[in-house]
Amino acid sequence: TDRLRGKRALVTAAGAGIGRASALAMAAEGAEVLATDIDAAALEELAAQGIATRRLDVTDKAAVAALAEEIAAPNVLFNCAGMVPNGTILDCDEEQWERAVSLNLTAMYRMLRALLPGMIAGGGGSIINMASVASSVIAAPNRFAYGATKAGVIGLTKSIAADFITQGIRANAICPGTVDSPSLQARLHATGDYEAARAAFIARQPIGRIGTPEEVAALVVHLASDESSYTTGVAHVIDGGWANI
Ligand code: NAD
Repeated sequence: TDRLRGKRALVTAAGAGIGRASALAMAAEGAEVLATDIDAAALEELAAQGIATRRLDVTDKAAVAALAEEIAAPNVLFNCAGMVPNGTILDCDEEQWERAVSLNLTAMYRMLRALLPGMIAGGGGSIINMASVASSVIAAPNRFAYGATKAGVIGLTKSIAADFITQGIRANAICPGTVDSPSLQARLHATGDYEAARAAFIARQPIGRIGTPEEVAALVVHLASDESSYTTGVAHVIDGGWANI
């Protein structure tokens, strides 16, 4: 219960799903967690569990700059916020493309530009960026803007790992397969045939089930902790066997 004792961890999109499970798991390991999200009610629920919270829309440039001004630089930065646009390139108009790039990629760029100097000054730290197995790792049908932006997250992560390795910064991406979360449930319902969509998602996972946010949170804790001190620049696949078997 003290694998992250003495570390300050900042999590984006901590209100639900993988971000929420990771905020709770890091707090349980002794980290001082700052959970951020746009969902005030979800943050209140985390605050009731003793976790420090702050409203942050990661696409709000001024809010990201203000955050970096106001807080002590974290030792662990988990950039979890992201969205899942559906469809091929022919379904993706400029507006959807801009939205996907803005949330999945530009927001991460801004968080890192704002917080990395403080992390370096503080002696280094661990950056964990949320990609997906649907990225440069493997193609998923109807995930055009998603796959493109999540592949970008992997490149961004490796670049930071290369540039700051001598300054105590580690940067890793995580690449989950299908994981149960509120937005996954919404995507399943949006298909109009919940059971068929769920069966199709499960069929994609050789392990025969959808993953849990807690399984991904366990990887986040490992990457946040000094246990992983020799690991950087890696896209960590956690996908029930989808991409590799
Ligand atoms: P989710 O999508 O259900 O919830 C995400 C949270 O993000 C919500 O609390 C929401 O309020 C918050 N959010 C949305 N826009 C935001 C913004 N602009 N600024 C700050 N917070 C914002 O959770 P999830 O499915 O666990 O997804 C989290 C991340 O994991 C995403 O980047 C997603 O692409 C990635 N991912 C998810 C899966 C999956 O199957 N669920 C698989 C691979 C990768």
